[in-house]
Amino acid sequence: MARPVVAIVGRPNVGKSTIFNRLIGDRLAIVEDKPGITRDRIYGVSEWNGKPFSVIDTGGIEIDGDDVILKSIRMQAELAIEEADVIVFMCDAKSGVTQSDEEVAQILFRSGKPIVLAVNKVDNLARHDEIYEFYSLGFGDPIAISGSHGTGIGDLLDAIVDILPELNDDEYDEDVIRVALIGRPNVGKSSLVNAILGEERVIVSDIAGTTRDAIDTPFEKDGQRYVLIDTAGMRKRGKVYETTEKYSVMRAMRAIERADVVLIVINGEEGIIDQDKHIAGYAYEAGKASIFVVNKWDIVDKDDKTMQQFEKKIRDHFLFMTYAPIVFLSAKTKSRLHKLLPVVQHAAEQHTLRVQTHLLNDVVSDAVAINPPPTDKGRRLRINYVTQVAVKPPTIVVFVNDPELMHFSYERYLENKIRGAFDFEGTPIRIFTRRKS
Ligand code: GDP
Ligand code: GDP
Repeated sequence: MARPVVAIVGRPNVGKSTIFNRLIGDRLAIVEDKPGITRDRIYGVSEWNGKPFSVIDTGGIEIDGDDVILKSIRMQAELAIEEADVIVFMCDAKSGVTQSDEEVAQILFRSGKPIVLAVNKVDNLARHDEIYEFYSLGFGDPIAISGSHGTGIGDLLDAIVDILPELNDDEYDEDVIRVALIGRPNVGKSSLVNAILGEERVIVSDIAGTTRDAIDTPFEKDGQRYVLIDTAGMRKRGKVYETTEKYSVMRAMRAIERADVVLIVINGEEGIIDQDKHIAGYAYEAGKASIFVVNKWDIVDKDDKTMQQFEKKIRDHFLFMTYAPIVFLSAKTKSRLHKLLPVVQHAAEQHTLRVQTHLLNDVVSDAVAINPPPTDKGRRLRINYVTQVAVKPPTIVVFVNDPELMHFSYERYLENKIRGAFDFEGTPIRIFTRRKS
């Protein structure tokens, strides 16, 4: 299910990142505490009254030049208008309505997007009167919040989920594989899109595939239908901020949410940098099938060990994504390009794989027999029953005597055994531990 995106917009120092942390706070993504994942604090997943959504803090996009602050928030607002389903426009009760608040208000107002106006730093009742002047911005009732004290956050969440749109998940038939290409600027995403579409026996179809602002490209190969998500976003170029990390992250997130399989494109010539890790981390958190595509392989100095060495580098950098296959290719010369779609198809199958409960329990019983859970302060984890409760990604619930006794390393062990028995290549697996004796 694609989660709607909520973006927080506002001047520097009004408390955006403070509120962002409050919004995702104790509802952090379940993968949060896994080692090896590089987090970037601008994106998180939240849920309120059973409605999941993702949150982006648009703050801190840096650009050079005069009027930097004004330019930056204008840019944030434009980004949020393009990429978000709901915008939280944040102001500061201490400073009152400023000229840049008014500027931003105008941009947001014209967009017609659903807006929630939040006034932060309302730390005590005495200050509550200060929110009235914010009615002048024209977004109705301002919501008084305090990031420091955590007050008003429930009201803010109520207001957000009230206007959160239902995302239409069945825009394509079940059997269409939705593919997103993500990666830093210049790694070759658009070249790869063109290469795939120009490939022999690829039939680019013109079935309606336009959702919101995103333009998707559907095509068919060897009887399998695919759609490349947000190919327009890749072609859109030229504004200064499109090269900033946050911008590419925002674009990538939206595409990731809508995809089944995410191609994480890496520049084989340059190697791996932190930004690649952030982007890959989102695909992991979103529970999407993923494939590493090492592009520009034509210009890499190679011998018979180069590929293996690069593979090792990827595995070292992306410890949390050992399940993702790696494809080396060149979008430019099309060498090895034919290897890509079969891997995509396989990953998509594994992403929707459902394993029968008795088979799963057989594998887990065997695993426990070979290597029983270690004891913790004299108590031993007992696994009573295992069942797969969902696909996309495959989600497994392990019922045990006491969830506290399930350690990360043992969970990892079980996951490896399950993967060994059923494949699941290309897809993350979620494992939840629940009490049931
Ligand atoms: P951002 O630049 O908009 O992301 O703002 P930050 O979240 O970094 O906050 C800017 C400053 O305001 C920090 O010093 C925060 O501690 C402070 N701050 C955030 N929320 C509140 C609040 O509710 N009340 C008060 N008094 N200060 C706050
Ligand atoms: P994007 O920003 O990720 O969409 O990257 P582009 O597709 O625009 O490619 C950036 C640059 O890399 C362009 O100059 C491409 O011609 C070049 N490029 C893309 N793929 C390859 C490749 O496989 N080999 C080589 N040598 N250059 C490539």
